[in-house]
Amino acid sequence: KESNTRENNVAKIKVVVRKRPLNKKEVSRKEDDIVTVSDNASLSVHEPKLKVDLTAYVEKHEFCFDAVLDEHITNDEVYRATVEPIIPTIFQRTKATCFAYGQTGSGKTYTMQPLPLRAAEDLVRLLHQPIYRNQWFKLWLSFFEIYGGKLFDLLSDRKKLCMREDGRQQVCIVGLQEFEVSDVQVVKEYIERGNASRSTGSTGANEESSRSHAILQLVVKKHNEVKDSRRNNDGNETKAGKVVGKISFIDLAGSERGADTTDNDRQTRIEGAEINKSLLALKECIRALDNDQLHIPFRGSKLTEVLRDSFVGNSKTVMISCISPNAGSCEHTLNTLRYADRVK
Ligand code: ADP
Ligand code: MG
Repeated sequence: KESNTRENNVAKIKVVVRKRPLNKKEVSRKEDDIVTVSDNASLSVHEPKLKVDLTAYVEKHEFCFDAVLDEHITNDEVYRATVEPIIPTIFQRTKATCFAYGQTGSGKTYTMQPLPLRAAEDLVRLLHQPIYRNQWFKLWLSFFEIYGGKLFDLLSDRKKLCMREDGRQQVCIVGLQEFEVSDVQVVKEYIERGNASRSTGSTGANEESSRSHAILQLVVKKHNEVKDSRRNNDGNETKAGKVVGKISFIDLAGSERGADTTDNDRQTRIEGAEINKSLLALKECIRALDNDQLHIPFRGSKLTEVLRDSFVGNSKTVMISCISPNAGSCEHTLNTLRYADRVK
């Protein structure tokens, strides 16, 4: 696409589909795998259907994306196909976002969890390169959740947070804890700690976390040499420093949750409406970005408001759409692929 301008050979928007393997349960139920990955950019879904006279037939749906990753692709290969090319641009004022979209159980968390770790590894390595070594760059990490339209810090006992905008289109999440990371092992601990404090309700952990968006941000900041040495003397933690670039990893709420708007439970209905609103707003923002529209409709939801500064200027977006291969998930899989198709 012409509007998909390339800088450093990295597309502004990239839409990738990842198919997971059939799981044990699906195999034991002898479910069919209805997703065929044709090549590294296309796939087809074989939808089982019935005619009026009840004879069975299959409707074939074909899709093309920037990349299609089959069930044999490792997380490391996912990293190389999605996030790795963006990393050097973070030092050139890029705000990048990587989303995992899909129904609950399609592999979003499995796909998303290792990515920030690999990204931090590469970012830390770049910080130590001769061209950056003497520039007082530092890497910071934060991890929070949007649940029912509210923000919670996952690295500070789920403290409730609020958002503020300054006059320069910068989003500030008041009170969000940021941690300097110079060692990748520490990043791993933060990821585990944050995931452990994702929303869990009476209905069980996976069930509840599927109703929230988890956002992990890695931010490169440029610090002031003088202020920084002063800080070292009085021992105070300061987050001062100017943002150079950042990358946000977003494990989105289960896409099927957006349909929970007719549920009997009031709370579930409210959350479902919020999820539906945020996924629609996200799609509209990415489309606006792709068309180089001046007006980005980020006010449509909390999720897109939080990501506002990543939707302007030098931005890069990777959408990883996760799909389940089993026949029983056909409807959700088609919905996910149609959403991804609209974004691209
Ligand atoms: P989601 O976050 O979308 O609800 P999960 O990431 O929790 O889904 O994945 C559901 C289950 O499937 C997990 O047990 C996970 O380990 C497994 N899984 C997902 N994707 C893959 C994959 N590509 N290869 C192997 N197992 C996978
Ligand atoms: Mg998950």
